[in-house]
Amino acid sequence: MEETHYEVLNVSENATSEQIKFRFQNLILRHHPDKRGSVPQDDDQAQRILRAWDVLRTPQSRKEYDAELAARQRRQGAVINSEIDLDDMAYNEDKLTFSMRCRCSGTYAITEDDLEQGIDVVCCDNCSLRIRVLYDVVEGDDE
Ligand SMILES: [Zn+2]
Repeated sequence: MEETHYEVLNVSENATSEQIKFRFQNLILRHHPDKRGSVPQDDDQAQRILRAWDVLRTPQSRKEYDAELAARQRRQGAVINSEIDLDDMAYNEDKLTFSMRCRCSGTYAITEDDLEQGIDVVCCDNCSLRIRVLYDVVEGDDE
């Protein structure tokens, strides 16, 4: 799969515009062989960095790109990083929510409502990783 602009700049999809700008400036300096001149056309990586920056630098074009990315991911089926048994998640009785730490120290959270609606894919609230929650559907309670 083609690298996303975020991957080219090596930033999270939730990065702030300051973080993106900082990354861009760092990267382009490293890929800029001639600081006074323009980037050579045959420097593929520098071209990719410039293209990524061009899209992510303004909120409007970034938003359009995000929508395009989301559509692309839907077409390809969301990338699932791992499958987690519901029993292995922590349950919060107050919020009726199952949750789990992501390796980025973000959180995956899924509510009982989500589960009842058949939702089983959860995004991290901090990075772009997703997990699939495995659980048995309990059909009707006979009590
Ligand atoms: Zn994460």
